[in-house]
Amino acid sequence: MDLQKVCFICGAPHSGSTLLGLILGSHSKCFYAGEANKVTFLHSKSSSEDSKCKMCGQNCSIWGDFTLKDPKDLYLQLSLKTQTPIIIDSTKKPTWLQEQINNLKREQITLTLIYLYRDGRAVINSRLRKYKDSEPAKVIDNWISHINKTNQLYNEFPGDKIKILYKNLAQNTIETIQTITKFLTISFEPSMIAFYEHEHHPLGGNTGTQSLILKSQQEKRINSPIQLSERNQYYYEDHPLQIKFDERWKTELDPKVLHLFDKKAGALNTTFLDEFKKQ
Ligand SMILES: [Zn+2]
Repeated sequence: MDLQKVCFICGAPHSGSTLLGLILGSHSKCFYAGEANKVTFLHSKSSSEDSKCKMCGQNCSIWGDFTLKDPKDLYLQLSLKTQTPIIIDSTKKPTWLQEQINNLKREQITLTLIYLYRDGRAVINSRLRKYKDSEPAKVIDNWISHINKTNQLYNEFPGDKIKILYKNLAQNTIETIQTITKFLTISFEPSMIAFYEHEHHPLGGNTGTQSLILKSQQEKRINSPIQLSERNQYYYEDHPLQIKFDERWKTELDPKVLHLFDKKAGALNTTFLDEFKKQ
């Protein structure tokens, strides 16, 4: 199987890229690598969950004995190993993405980029939930900086590109995925939507979303390094397997943080959201 295409999913962390990656990775022609930059931590002695497959732990049919021969061949190697022509990478770091784009451009591999956008207020809330001690102003500044860098990457991207709203992905999933499969020039496979019933081997990514696979395929729990925080455990226990629009920020976000966000980043956030309103 030859590698035909690499599809990058970019955007701010906590924007739903794990969900989108898992859905696309459920297509017969696609393999979702997770955040492929985590390949550099693979087999490291650390017990961090980033050093192994989030589903299988160390005993993984894809990553278990994976050794990257040349960083330039990462996607080529993955395509051979998984026997799929399209590799999906949801690393959000602009520097990693730029490096991969430069490498692949030379190899004449078709490049595609999906910019997944989620309301900044929801992103900040997820971030503050995960890292309780972080300074809200700093979290907001990091978001602004990440969005500015991602906008630049998107504008300069040499291949096919598309912008997708997390809200649409979560609320009109089928329609949104059909838009994306058309963009990737692959057929829409209805079973993709039930991503939790498929086999996956992601590196990194959102543990809560991935835990839905373990909920559906309980036998996978034995080896998976996934551990939910108490608060998320409570949320995902009641979470249906189906995709649910996460709007927890509306009740969880401190009004003071909301005000600070509006002051610092309101205009930037609205620019993106307005683009979709016009469509
Ligand atoms: Zn695995």
